[in-house]
Amino acid sequence: MNWRFGLILLAILSGSTGCFVRDVRWSPIRPPRHSPGRTYVIETTGYCPCGDCCGWERNWLFRPVISSGPNRGKPKAVGVTASGARAKKGTLAADTSIFPFGTVMYIPGYGYGRVEDRGSGIKGYRVDLFFQSHRDAAEWGRVKKKVTVWKNGAK
Ligand SMILES: [Zn+2]
Repeated sequence: MNWRFGLILLAILSGSTGCFVRDVRWSPIRPPRHSPGRTYVIETTGYCPCGDCCGWERNWLFRPVISSGPNRGKPKAVGVTASGARAKKGTLAADTSIFPFGTVMYIPGYGYGRVEDRGSGIKGYRVDLFFQSHRDAAEWGRVKKKVTVWKNGAK
């Protein structure tokens, strides 16, 4: 084992980097069969589970709490989405009045994702794409994409 691998292993085991989701179960996301989907132009942004992206900070006990708004100071379940699923690559946050939970999307450059989360700032034709690290989320930035949408993928 070389030192580089050791460092990566250490980073995974310690899991204390904040911008890390511990559960990385991989589940394939695929659109429903025999359905071409519909194309929308959607503004996409990247996010990760860190406090900057998800509005939380650590209190004096080092526990994550919500950092602003009416629920300020209340405990925050980091990495858990509004639908209760664990956030992972492929987790999308959208305006669920337009794209309900379970909607499958194909975003060029990102791949397949499924709407499992929402946010107060996510309204209209826009979607937040989950990334494991803040650097990857920041690199994605904010881009308009031609997104293929399968709403009938919704559960
Ligand atoms: Zn972040």
